Amino acid sequence: MQEAGAGMEKGRESILLERIRRLFFELNRHSFLGEIPEPEFGLSRRLRLSGYVQFGRRRPRMVLSVPYHDRFGWDGELEGTLKHEMVHLLLHARNRPFGHTREFRRLCRQIGGRDYSQALPRPFRYVYECPRCRRTFRYRRRVKLACAACTRDRIWPCVLRLKVWLSPKPPGRMPPRAVAADSLF
Ligand SMILES: [Zn+2]
Ligand SMILES: [Zn+2]
Repeated sequence: MQEAGAGMEKGRESILLERIRRLFFELNRHSFLGEIPEPEFGLSRRLRLSGYVQFGRRRPRMVLSVPYHDRFGWDGELEGTLKHEMVHLLLHARNRPFGHTREFRRLCRQIGGRDYSQALPRPFRYVYECPRCRRTFRYRRRVKLACAACTRDRIWPCVLRLKVWLSPKPPGRMPPRAVAADSLF
């Protein structure tokens, strides 16, 4: 069962890699006059950034995020990611500084690419509960806040109490008592 799943995943990844390679050649021809040497292509199943290029090796390696593009799309969004990473490759091939420089941003704008890094939003990791009204609030970071509704009613300065779950676990599976966040991270 597990092997079949892994096999399907592999099959899908080779289809995606083929699509990426084809789009690379198309963009290279149309937007870069074929100037960019072909990099290695890779996929990551965990990367939060849309993609990156690994330099300092014989051939640069362009790695694209599977979860990012599963969420935002393998068409226009993929093209946006590729254009951005290809400008890094272009500058590297020209022996120019290839970070997010002024020149980098200008080239990105010229070809209609993003001039900044895109990433999946960070998951909510902290759940707080108002001790009075029991409303819950989700945050990506730890906070020190009071429940606005209760405090507005001047009932009590309801400082939210931390409960934690690690997304994507549903709240129903929360541990029975609150756990100090620091013990988990
Ligand atoms: Zn970049
Ligand atoms: Zn409240």
